[in-house]
Amino acid sequence: MVNSGQNQSAQLQRSISDFGVPPDIRSGLARIIHSSVPLTLIAVLINSVALSIVQLSVVAHTTILIWFCITNGLSLIRWGLYLQFNKRYTLEQAPIYWTHLTFIVSAASGLTWGAVAIWLFPEDSFVHQVFTAFVIAGMSAGAVTTLAPLLSSVCAFILFAMLPIIVRFFQVDTDINYAMGAMSILFTVMLLITSKRLNQTIKESLLLRHEQVLAEKTIQYQAHYDALTNLPNRRLIIGRLKQEIARSIRHKHIGGVLFLDLDHFKTINDSLGHTVGDELLKQVASRINQRVRDEDTAARLGGDEFIILLAEVGDTPVQAMDNVMNVADQILQLLDAPFQISGHELHVTVSIGIALFPLTETSADQLLQQSDVAMYEAKQAGRNTVRIFLPEMQKTVDNRRATEKGLRRALAEDELELFYQPQVDADHSIIGLEALLRWNHPAKGIIAPNEFIEIAEITGLITQIGDWVSNTACRDLSRIPAGRNLKMCINVSPRQFAETVFVDKLKEIIAMAGVNPDNIQLEITESMLIRDIEAAIEKMQKLKSAGVSFSIDDFGTGYSSLAYLKRLPVDILKIDKSFVLDIDKDESNAVIVETVIAMAKHMQIDIVAEGVENEQILNYLKDRGCTRFQGYFFARPMPLNSLLKQFPELNRSNRDANIIDMRPS
Ligand code: C2E
Ligand code: MG
Ligand code: MG
Repeated sequence: MVNSGQNQSAQLQRSISDFGVPPDIRSGLARIIHSSVPLTLIAVLINSVALSIVQLSVVAHTTILIWFCITNGLSLIRWGLYLQFNKRYTLEQAPIYWTHLTFIVSAASGLTWGAVAIWLFPEDSFVHQVFTAFVIAGMSAGAVTTLAPLLSSVCAFILFAMLPIIVRFFQVDTDINYAMGAMSILFTVMLLITSKRLNQTIKESLLLRHEQVLAEKTIQYQAHYDALTNLPNRRLIIGRLKQEIARSIRHKHIGGVLFLDLDHFKTINDSLGHTVGDELLKQVASRINQRVRDEDTAARLGGDEFIILLAEVGDTPVQAMDNVMNVADQILQLLDAPFQISGHELHVTVSIGIALFPLTETSADQLLQQSDVAMYEAKQAGRNTVRIFLPEMQKTVDNRRATEKGLRRALAEDELELFYQPQVDADHSIIGLEALLRWNHPAKGIIAPNEFIEIAEITGLITQIGDWVSNTACRDLSRIPAGRNLKMCINVSPRQFAETVFVDKLKEIIAMAGVNPDNIQLEITESMLIRDIEAAIEKMQKLKSAGVSFSIDDFGTGYSSLAYLKRLPVDILKIDKSFVLDIDKDESNAVIVETVIAMAKHMQIDIVAEGVENEQILNYLKDRGCTRFQGYFFARPMPLNSLLKQFPELNRSNRDANIIDMRPS
């Protein structure tokens, strides 16, 4: 992570020694030093040759030879170390002993130049003494630039090289020698100070670079890994999947994608809270991750969806299928053991969809979609089970894709339309209108909602569509002169209702249209209430206190639980048309309808029967106490203009005693 400037300098203070710095920086320092070794060794060679030649006339030749051999022998060792370092550590971190080695070699090198003042210092020739001093000082100054990254090394070099010559000057009892000695001390101090400064600058810049690299790594990590589970995320898994598809085509073997979706995760999340939900996801991720081999990848797509990419599971489809099924079964078993989370013992099951590759030409995205569709099939088959993607399912994939794309266009190009179907009371007067969505497709004509609502729900487009529906229905209501006497019934989908902003948004839409909330009724289904009943009640109560009423749509097809129904601020139950349509023929449907009517009476809730197609059904329902009806017998859903034409009563704002006669003339 990127630290502040203060943090950096604090770190630098702590790491002022060459050995205490972070390994990355230490390696960086060693690398800088090694990069200047060739230049240093050339300088050593030139200076040692020049010095030896100059001193030939004043110093014993054997001494010069010995010194020359030691000095350049050391250069050979340094060259060898330089080659070794480059061979091993140009890219990776150098171990700490390289810092120690550099220190020893620098000190030894300093000593060879210090030795010049001892062995090659001519007592009698001041000119040669000055020359000697000049060479040593030159080497020390050079060391500042090449060894500054390691303060200990540069200091060792300078002190070992300079101290003997200083002592030497003071030993010769002349003023000019004292002066030379004093100047050498000053020069040494200057060199040390410069070294320290240079060292600080180099370390700071390396530290900064180090922080940058760390920050880049963090950003890289966040872009490719899921923060909660530390598993690869969608982006990374798609990348790997692409590689794996290419590899399997090249090597002619088969791989598999497992799409996992936890069953009823939302219920756990909603009832026990997000902390428990998050912990569960972490534990699930860790169990899954334990199972995968090194060459496989487990990833989290988001929410409670996981992917396992199995590389190379077989050479033939049958073999591959067998192996992947085995893994899937193991995953089911792995998750079978209960999870212990904050004192709760949680039992979790998972639905798994499988797609193999490269059986047909498939992209990574398509493969994920295929496995998703297979997972959906597993859910339909009762959850806690595995399904393999079959080519027949491809139709679902293509259809889903095309519909999603089409719906986006429909929203943008204004292809959606609302039809309205009247609801009537026992006297057949219109008491309400249900807004029913239609997609006016440029090529296919009018499309019924059953063909696209589910896809809109899956893809999340439903929230935008739902907003459009609410807006349009409210606006249309304000255009109906008799609107004040009607309930405008708007269907709400689960995802739309789950939005946190749902209540506020709807209130705003109603206010903007200038209609009375008392005239708005929302149709919700049981399934969307059961997920998080407390949150649902809260939202319903907020809207109720604003005047909005509620009906439970498709009643009878879901849980139909009295226990929670009692707690809900519901005004109407709509009996699903599947029970009503053949009520006079199907005994069990008749029983269900009678039970629902009795139940509603008991709870003092009104009932609307949907799907009233003929008079027999109407009379049958009336006989059993039902008082509100909706169905083709009275009217089919139709555009607002047709409705206003067909029922002129709706054009009268002060409808006489609310009577609109629906009896066919
Ligand atoms: P629903 O809310 O149960 O709507 C009643 C459905 O029954 C409508 O189908 C209506 O045309 C049909 N229906 C009414 N009377 C009869 C009849 O006598 N016989 C028969 N066979 N059918 C009848 P539709 O318009 O195709 O809508 C289907 C479903 O799509 C709706 O069921 C509702 O769940 C959903 N839907 C419609 N509009 C919207 C919307 O704006 N938002 C959301 N979220 N869902 C919508
Ligand atoms: Mg409805
Ligand atoms: Mg219904």
